[in-house]
Amino acid sequence: MAGNVNPAQKVLKTMDLISKIERKLRQVEDFPKKGIVFQDITPLLSDPTLYEQIVGAMAKQVEAMGAEALACIESRGFFFGPAIAQKLGIPWAPIRKKGKLPYKTVSEEYALEYGTDIIEMHEDAFQAGAKVVIHDDVLATGGTGVAAAKLVGSVTELAGFSFLMDLTFLEGRKKLVEFTPNVEALLKIK
Ligand code: AMP
Repeated sequence: MAGNVNPAQKVLKTMDLISKIERKLRQVEDFPKKGIVFQDITPLLSDPTLYEQIVGAMAKQVEAMGAEALACIESRGFFFGPAIAQKLGIPWAPIRKKGKLPYKTVSEEYALEYGTDIIEMHEDAFQAGAKVVIHDDVLATGGTGVAAAKLVGSVTELAGFSFLMDLTFLEGRKKLVEFTPNVEALLKIK
């Protein structure tokens, strides 16, 4: 039937999207500190057609996990997350750094390279029992994802993780699959 896309065409479409993203992404060396290659996703925001395609592709992954709501991690998780939730017609709520949310919160401390940090979520962000997917731009060491999984898990059911990219050489995925087998990223950076 006209308009039907077979599996091979789907794979080609995804590969085409990934190469478009790779061409647009910007790597900034030694930001925010020496030795880090920062994946700057802001060039992806300047192309509305590409933005829509990225949102559509991630929305499919989130939908396949059975998401009933999305938890978006401050701050770059807010770049695509709300549009994914809107596309799927599901609610979203922010996970933020300590002290940013005005109402009663649940919080989780996690280790950084030096010291610790705390993330928070409103205690009524999600209905108990709702299947929640956590979204962020980049999966690096997985420390933020683990803390977010504990937060979401303390109030409801964690259904999976959605990232724009996975820095696979840092092996963060290994930590996240302890919580759920559903860990998806559009791009895998080696
Ligand atoms: P991690 O807790 O190590 O998985 O780090 C994930 C968080 O740090 C995400 O919120 C990312 O936005 C950010 N991040 C870590 N490494 C990078 C990188 N190389 N480029 C861009 N963002 C990064």
